[in-house]
Amino acid sequence: MIAEALRPLTDAPARAAVLCDIDGTLAPIVARAEEARVPPEATRILAELARRYAVVACISGRSAADAKRLVGVGRIVYAGAHGAELLWPGDRTPTALPEFERHTAKVHRFVASHDGEPLRGLGVRVEDKGPIVALHWRGVPDEAAAESRLREIAGEADADGLATHWGRKVLEVRPPVPISKARAVEELVRQPNVRTAMFGGDDTTDLDAFDALDAAVRDGELDAAVRVGVASSEGPAALAERADLVVPGTAGFLSVLAAL
Ligand SMILES: [Mg+2]
Repeated sequence: MIAEALRPLTDAPARAAVLCDIDGTLAPIVARAEEARVPPEATRILAELARRYAVVACISGRSAADAKRLVGVGRIVYAGAHGAELLWPGDRTPTALPEFERHTAKVHRFVASHDGEPLRGLGVRVEDKGPIVALHWRGVPDEAAAESRLREIAGEADADGLATHWGRKVLEVRPPVPISKARAVEELVRQPNVRTAMFGGDDTTDLDAFDALDAAVRDGELDAAVRVGVASSEGPAALAERADLVVPGTAGFLSVLAAL
């Protein structure tokens, strides 16, 4: 069933893009994001795919540099901060979109003004991702209280003209400009020779990547696209509804990579 779903890519790897999320897709979800690990087998397969496929890329909510550190393959593309920055093979620094740089200071000022008690007392962890700041509440002593406080903060951020986004036990405060994995997917499927593409992901932000694949097929930029949903108890129901192939967890996604 996996082999059948992947046929548009495996029939012509030199014309195919292999795109995927990292956390919850390549790396099992752990309580603290900094402790996440990509299995060596996944790293080995991605390096091998990079030699045969037109494009191999990881698109993550992490910074591009952190994504590269975690995955550990030099020859693939890393899209960080949900597509706000792209790190190309051979480049030392990511290319960020200028509209994000413009709002970075405001995002950081807002979080700094809400970062004292009771947020710290609730155990919420603050992660600096350049133009985005993430507030994590996974594993805090009282998750319901933390989420409730973060809902208030999200309301204030929205009222302040900033954008907010909810993921798996994380609230992100973002610049008020469109940011999504769709932007990175659009850029990557436009690379020379790419006619088919796959994207695999486990969370709400990955639906944006599915949207971009849909649009690329509709506009004739791609001949075919394969949407892979990585199922988990915390993931959105829409992921399985929209996917061409649903696999169980990171082990399931490793099977997909191995079938390429
Ligand atoms: Mg994920």
